[in-house]
Amino acid sequence: MTKKTPEQGPEIAFVTGAAQGIGLATARRLAQDGFRVIAMDLSGDRLTPAVAALKSEGLDVEAKVVDVCNRASVVAAFAREPRVDVMVCAAGIYNDARFLDLDETAFRRMLEVNVIGVFIAAQEAARRMQAGGRIITISSRGALGGTRFAHYVASKSAVIGLTRAMAMELREARIAVNSIAPGFTDTPMTRSAPAEMFAAWERIEPSGAAAKPAELANAIAFFASPRTSFVTGQTLFVDGGKSLGGLGI
Ligand code: NAD
Repeated sequence: MTKKTPEQGPEIAFVTGAAQGIGLATARRLAQDGFRVIAMDLSGDRLTPAVAALKSEGLDVEAKVVDVCNRASVVAAFAREPRVDVMVCAAGIYNDARFLDLDETAFRRMLEVNVIGVFIAAQEAARRMQAGGRIITISSRGALGGTRFAHYVASKSAVIGLTRAMAMELREARIAVNSIAPGFTDTPMTRSAPAEMFAAWERIEPSGAAAKPAELANAIAFFASPRTSFVTGQTLFVDGGKSLGGLGI
């Protein structure tokens, strides 16, 4: 589906945060869709076996250890690839803190990874993209608000604003920029919470369950497809309808 001419080879998709969770599911889904995938993550220890497993499934995936907050390491990941067709910015961090207890160190770290990390990866990708390129950021339903994670809410609202701004500046170059806003999803990020908290979060989902990472990857694949590249500046909530409200929660 994503094949260019035989000389050009398949389209190339770069995915950050690809060692686990939503990023890993996205790397698998895009590779299954015919992309060559460059899987980028800070953790080489987790990325190496994850990519080995994808390769054993017959998928065209390459691992690059990258810190999205470090421009030189992001640039190095692009060095050996001839093109950038798709950039998925899934790397992110989350932690819990009551607003009254939050300090600047935790707040700045959240913005550094979740906002500056997206900015650097998206900008370096856009600089290498041709007309028809697609950038997908991963924001969060949390951008609408929430308790005990004001710094995360702020970071994900910023990602939505950044997505719209990038879409406006890049539309004449015909580079599409969109965001997926996941709801509560079953990944190592959310599994790092105590089991009783995970269960409590599931109970307030309309479906009564966390999303599977593959469900998010399917939505990301929609924006990654060359067939949808006329859609730009949009944020798609993939949250089983929770953002619609009306549940008394
Ligand atoms: P996860 O913690 O399971 O995976 C995130 C990956 O990002 C990890 O492999 C981690 O090593 C990597 N990473 C972190 N900092 C990095 C850096 N500086 N450079 C490169 N890689 C880095 O998380 P997930 O649940 O798969 O979340 C993926 C994205 O989706 C994040 O942006 C997250 O905020 C967002 N999200 C998740 C949920 C959810 O419920 N899981 C909900 C809404 C939004």
